[in-house]
Amino acid sequence: MANQELLILAGHAWQCPDCRRLLLEAPEKALRGHRLTPDEHERLTSLTAEDFTSLSALAKALDVEVSDLYDIMNHARTRLRHF
Ligand SMILES: [Zn+2]
Repeated sequence: MANQELLILAGHAWQCPDCRRLLLEAPEKALRGHRLTPDEHERLTSLTAEDFTSLSALAKALDVEVSDLYDIMNHARTRLRHF
């Protein structure tokens, strides 16, 4: 399973339009201070608006299982985790 931190950040960006906009427009600012590996940081930084058209597109862009993204959506930390 992918790093929880990556999934939580991606899941929150999926749920929260404000944080999604920040991630797409200023990824370095959005991701500052989060515990990500350089590879995970790169994957989140590379996301585009099209990657958010569906959950499966987002999972594919991040190279994670769509089921892992589904699971993380119900996590309290995902819902409350503003960037
Ligand atoms: Zn948010």
